Amino acid sequence: MAKRKNVKSGKKPGTPLEKAAAEYREQPVQKDATEEMTAEISAAEPKVTEVAADEPSTAKIVEDSPAVAKETCVPPRRSVAFIGSECYPFVKTGGLGDVMYALPKELAKQNCDVKVILPRYKCIPWEYQTKMIFRGGFQMDLCADGRSFHVAIMEYVWDGVVYDFIDNEEFFSYGNPYTNLIDDIPRFCYFAKAALAALNYMDWIPDIIHCHDWQAALVPVYLRTQFVQTKLTTAKTILTIHNLRFQGIYDIPTIRYWSGLPDYVFNMGALKVGDRDANMLKGGLAYANFITTVSQTYAEEIQCAYYGETLDSHLRYHSGKLRGIVNGIDCDIWNPSTDARLYKNYDISNVLDKKKENKHRLQEELGLVQGDNKFVIGLISRLTNQKGLDLVNMILPQVMDEHTQFIVLGTGDRVYEDSFRYYENAYTGNVCSNIMYDETRAHRIYAGADALLVPSQFEPCGLTQLIAMHYGTIPIVRETGGLKDTVEPYNMYSNRGNGFTFDRYDAGLLLDAINRAKILYFEHRRCWDEMVQRDMDKNLSWENSAKQYRDLYLDLTR
Ligand code: ADP
Repeated sequence: MAKRKNVKSGKKPGTPLEKAAAEYREQPVQKDATEEMTAEISAAEPKVTEVAADEPSTAKIVEDSPAVAKETCVPPRRSVAFIGSECYPFVKTGGLGDVMYALPKELAKQNCDVKVILPRYKCIPWEYQTKMIFRGGFQMDLCADGRSFHVAIMEYVWDGVVYDFIDNEEFFSYGNPYTNLIDDIPRFCYFAKAALAALNYMDWIPDIIHCHDWQAALVPVYLRTQFVQTKLTTAKTILTIHNLRFQGIYDIPTIRYWSGLPDYVFNMGALKVGDRDANMLKGGLAYANFITTVSQTYAEEIQCAYYGETLDSHLRYHSGKLRGIVNGIDCDIWNPSTDARLYKNYDISNVLDKKKENKHRLQEELGLVQGDNKFVIGLISRLTNQKGLDLVNMILPQVMDEHTQFIVLGTGDRVYEDSFRYYENAYTGNVCSNIMYDETRAHRIYAGADALLVPSQFEPCGLTQLIAMHYGTIPIVRETGGLKDTVEPYNMYSNRGNGFTFDRYDAGLLLDAINRAKILYFEHRRCWDEMVQRDMDKNLSWENSAKQYRDLYLDLTR
């Protein structure tokens, strides 16, 4: 962790933020954002070296010993601040939480100095709350009328990663991270600015500020406007899109008031959309030095109208700084040979026997008819229309027969929750609808099911198919986004591939894919078993993807 300098009591004037804000107020009109960024990119950057020299002792060890670095091929060290709205195990609603945990951890192993900045929600388990230590606090101007809010920083260090939680009771006292836009817009305006102000306050100047989704999208905008006179301005920003559907759109007056951002960012090239709305994600995409998304296919798809969620032309315009890097999974958490939540642990050598035991125990726990001759299909998902549940609803009666069982785990839209409850009643003993969020149950389904269904309408990356493969459960997926990049379709002639796929968003094609899976399972079990082992053998860890992020950090800060 970088040294802390100039730490002052929050209430006194003269914190770096206040100085910067005062200087900022005295500035003449700011340059246009694009001009500023172009100048920045082309400028030589001695400051980055200065920052590296100011880094923590571990960084110095590596840099002071070039011989060692050369021998072991250690890449140059970079400091990275991750800013996002959720992170396992503190708070997780979906894949973003997994990535915010696993990627920093892997980057720390690859010679990056990583700090993760998160909101301190009330719902964070008490066991973590009690381990946090108070790093400092200060008052921060936020709104257009100068209304200010307190920012407290609570810190927790774990597995080589520093977690700094932004604490403010007014914004983060709800149980859940997301409530409704009317509350979420002010909350994440505050969070984006407070994250930068906290870095400034701690005098921790990262080489890279890596922001995630719309909740952190205003960070690059603040950095190039209100923080342009601070030391943080040397940092390069990356904005990762985990799901383009969520953008943080509200009317301009509301976002202008809560963000306190200058009028000129509310133009069509940055935040403005339509006649009267502002889009926080769109602004972040314009101001970030680089944009990534979580698979190569999704990076291409979102530049087309069908997947572009109305930002396709904006993304095409910025395509020169857009790239896809596929997610991995954390193989410490998702490891069937050590997973304490499983009934029976297993690895590739005994998967075929032990998976059967997991299946029996799962059937028993869920009140399903027990038996080896059942093909168990799992579905673990947020229950929203993105996930292709309309297709599932349409074909489930045709899928269900005396040899098939279906287990769903998820929460979300009422219409899907109710339809799965209906199917549970209609097929008692063979369908089980777990309308809940339950980590343990998820692990047991990954281990006990034969196949996992992911028929998404769109899927930026998707983690459930990766976890399934790692647990020897065959994915049945639609060829979109990361599903297309990670699941190679089974080829019956060459007996290769990792799962069953279909291309068009069509119920008939999904049914066909499930039937192909069933035929292989019941009639060519040896080929099925080989695929199970092949899937478990596939390298799905974060190592490769983290390397690509690290190389991107190096490229941006060379
Ligand atoms: P998304 O981010 O769109 O929700 P992903 O496939 O990227 O989808 O990630 C979903 C993550 O959330 C996986 O780790 C999955 O196991 C987990 N998950 C989803 N729903 C539940 C649930 N009801 N209970 C437990 N875990 C869940």
